[in-house]
Amino acid sequence: MNGAGLVVSHVSRRFGGVLALNGVSFAVRAGEIKSVIGPNGAGKSTLLNILSGVTAPSSGTVSLDGRRIERLPAHRRVAAGIARTFQNLQLFSDMSVLENVMVGAHTTQRAGFMDALCGSRKSNEDTVRAQAFALDLLAQFGLKSRAHSPAHALSYGEAKLLEIARAMASRPRMLLLDEPLAGLPYGSVKQVAEVVRALNRAGTSIVLVEHNVKAVMQLSDSVVVLANGEFVSEGTPDAIRSDRAVIDAYLGEPADAA
Ligand code: ADP
Ligand code: MG
Repeated sequence: MNGAGLVVSHVSRRFGGVLALNGVSFAVRAGEIKSVIGPNGAGKSTLLNILSGVTAPSSGTVSLDGRRIERLPAHRRVAAGIARTFQNLQLFSDMSVLENVMVGAHTTQRAGFMDALCGSRKSNEDTVRAQAFALDLLAQFGLKSRAHSPAHALSYGEAKLLEIARAMASRPRMLLLDEPLAGLPYGSVKQVAEVVRALNRAGTSIVLVEHNVKAVMQLSDSVVVLANGEFVSEGTPDAIRSDRAVIDAYLGEPADAA
């Protein structure tokens, strides 16, 4: 393997007496949509926290395109090309929709802090460019008409889209999504799923943590199944659907009814 993509190797994470992840390994090829599914408490959010630098692993390694990243702080992972959304929305509710996206673009702006402080020409040019890029992103997500509304005025579905738009503002190669479809009405599920597919077609690799197994099976190139912090199985959606160990991990329910 040429090292392109994300490689998770023997990752464990302990919280006191709880082993949230126990020696989990898998790889995300550049350009694929890899989903991570499993019952509540499986360790899915902990895994995304480890990939994005919110939490350090107790042991194990994570590489992106051949470079070890498991000890990099979160902001340096964004610079390395990883961005994420959160299971519980983390928008700045009093800031405008546009400003929320521009916060996500911040790490890609060239002007330094002193430039920004002094209002230098370079910083102004960068702000204008960042604003134009943010508006393009909002257009792509169907949110352009909402650009100047406060984030708290958005519907839940629009807010979920805004979180993804904000993550895309750092121009990531690898996008981590924690339950982007959870709590959405049916129409919005379709819309967000289409956005995920479109971002992937445009070249973004995606790690999708999601309980909507039907959507997972439709969107994913491959699926990793976790339960109680343990790796259970990995394979194509068709292989996972008929995998006995997966069905057992979902307590006897067929995987597509979970
Ligand atoms: P999932 O996202 O699959 O539902 P989590 O990764 O949130 O699972 O949690 C996995 C396990 O780790 C759970 O038992 C949870 O209670 C525990 N856990 C997660 N984060 C923490 C934390 N910060 N402190 C203590 N325990 C945690
Ligand atoms: Mg979770």
